[in-house]
Amino acid sequence: MIVLKTAGELDLMDEANSIVHGILKGLAERIGPGVTTAELDRWAEAEIRSLGGVPAFLNYKGFPATLCTALNDVIVHGIPDDKPLENGDILGIDCGVLYKGYYGDAARTYAVGEVSDVADRLMRVTREALDLAVERVRSRGRLSDIGHVVQKHVESNGFSVVRQFVGHGVGTSLHEEPQVPNFGRPGKGMRLKPGLVLAIEPMVNAGRNAVQVDSDGWTARTKDGTLSAHFEYSVAVTPSGPRVLGLDEAAGAQQALGAA
Ligand code: MG
Ligand code: MG
Repeated sequence: MIVLKTAGELDLMDEANSIVHGILKGLAERIGPGVTTAELDRWAEAEIRSLGGVPAFLNYKGFPATLCTALNDVIVHGIPDDKPLENGDILGIDCGVLYKGYYGDAARTYAVGEVSDVADRLMRVTREALDLAVERVRSRGRLSDIGHVVQKHVESNGFSVVRQFVGHGVGTSLHEEPQVPNFGRPGKGMRLKPGLVLAIEPMVNAGRNAVQVDSDGWTARTKDGTLSAHFEYSVAVTPSGPRVLGLDEAAGAQQALGAA
């Protein structure tokens, strides 16, 4: 079932997502060589709770942490641990918050110190793919136009799009219909309507798109061991165009997930 949200609900979802974006911004100041993802996780959980939110991923189907941390070849769903980050790593962080009955969901990938040219380009292309996708979140547009533009941008830059995991509707549940793949032919699927909220989240591999999941049942990594990047926004369809939820409008969408 597709759930369309009222203007009042979109404002609540904006609040939930602004907590998430506050966390992602705070993490940018904390991430660096020597820091552990477990430390980042403890900080994020305390911060979310102090703002009256609930970590949405903690205990979700048994997930043991507040943040999903995706180091280097990990695509998504990595579990924070006590291994210090190293110069040259890339670290994806996905954060979800439940606030006043609504979910916020966003992600970004961070450079740890100085990263390689390919890592830098992978993050930039993934981030650009998300920005292009947001532009397709328009009333009367088609759902598959979103995935199409992501795939086109990623593949034209020599990278590959993960197919095993997709974006999703979001609202009073963390995962609602419809699914939002990051690939596909344009002009297909439902027509987008005001009030629809989509979590759009391109996952892009430097090598091939095959995925393998670790024995922990969560950590999904590239099968060929190449780097992977992930960026995500929760975006509402409004009569005047896409509304990226949780952003400080004065700062603008381009700055929210870090400079490309
Ligand atoms: Mg997410
Ligand atoms: Mg999501």
